[in-house]
Amino acid sequence: MGRTDILYKKHKTRQDLRTLLSWTDPDLCQALYAAAYDVKVRNVGAVVYYRGLIEFSNECIKNCRYCGIRRGNTSVKRFRTEREDILSMADWTYRNQYGSITLQSGERQDEEFITYVEGLIRDIKTLSHGELGITLCVGEQEDRAYERWFAAGAHRYLLRIETGNPALYATLHPQDGHHVWQVRKQCLQTLRRIGYQVGTGDMIGLPGQTLDDLVDDILFYQQMDIDMIGMGPYVVHHNTPVGKEVLQAGLDSEAEKRRRLRLGLNMIAVTRLVLPDVNIAATTALQALHPLGRELGLKAGANVLMPIVTLPKFRPQYVLYDNKPCVDENPQQCRHCLQARVASVGDVVGFGKWGDAPHFFHTR
Ligand code: SAM
Ligand code: SF4
Repeated sequence: MGRTDILYKKHKTRQDLRTLLSWTDPDLCQALYAAAYDVKVRNVGAVVYYRGLIEFSNECIKNCRYCGIRRGNTSVKRFRTEREDILSMADWTYRNQYGSITLQSGERQDEEFITYVEGLIRDIKTLSHGELGITLCVGEQEDRAYERWFAAGAHRYLLRIETGNPALYATLHPQDGHHVWQVRKQCLQTLRRIGYQVGTGDMIGLPGQTLDDLVDDILFYQQMDIDMIGMGPYVVHHNTPVGKEVLQAGLDSEAEKRRRLRLGLNMIAVTRLVLPDVNIAATTALQALHPLGRELGLKAGANVLMPIVTLPKFRPQYVLYDNKPCVDENPQQCRHCLQARVASVGDVVGFGKWGDAPHFFHTR
């Protein structure tokens, strides 16, 4: 049996997935990405859907040990985007045929925040005549908040599990009772029950993470019947506890970054082979590690991009990791740049469409 035969096995074992993730030889990796791209084209098409990303506030009650906007990072200037500015950005995405937006922020659970987001969803639905799809990415919440936002018109929710390994999760978060893996998993189940299209994902190349952990992450997506995957390489932020540990251990060399990028692409490809009909995003973190990172993600089986439409004045304050791309650009520049990137891969942009994952309709 040739080494690439494994790509075409209908039922891949756990060991098969591990083998595919471990590939480093350029020819083998190209074969893996080509097989995944083929599965993408046959199941979700050679079409890339946009989710205009509005990072509307960096205020956060959490203290995740890897994240640049964690509560404990006192050198970050905190901001809240005015309602009118968010609505004008949403209007811009609507007029530019983005089809969907993602509202993302740090985590807050107070009533003022819940009501604010609820009002935003209703206003965005109104201004776009119901046409803009709305994805939320605002962290762990009580069931009632998720229900209110769904009733207001949000229909997709992205909450990364970060890692499917609870023990690894514990090393990446403070053990203060507010960063509990089981609670995060429960949130994903609640979101599904309410009727959202549910997205999750992990960070890839985390310190202490093994290939078996990554296999488990893919199996977690499968077991949880996830519709959308937003995963990407871990990228160091120099002023965070995990970032400092990685830098001190000398684990952020160029070779190490290349390893994390390759693992990120292998994860996209293997996930596409295992879950053919889900949406998979080529995330900005890929581009933080390689100028063409997102194109490589599309070639390895991803079919969603999240162009940043955050107001340029707030971008330098929403820096989750070092070298975050697009911080110096405006939405118009991002739009043109991305369209060229998509065309270079051979895909087209699904302008004006929601681009829901077929998986959602196959399983509900
Ligand atoms: N606060 C919400 C939450 O945590 O779900 C949403 C916003 S949070 C900034 C979005 C994602 O950023 C997280 O799920 C995490 O995976 C990612 N992130 C944070 N720090 C990162 C880093 N250093 N490298 C890569 N991704 C990172
Ligand atoms: Fe806050 Fe999300 Fe960053 Fe954690 S990952 S500190 S919840 S913004």
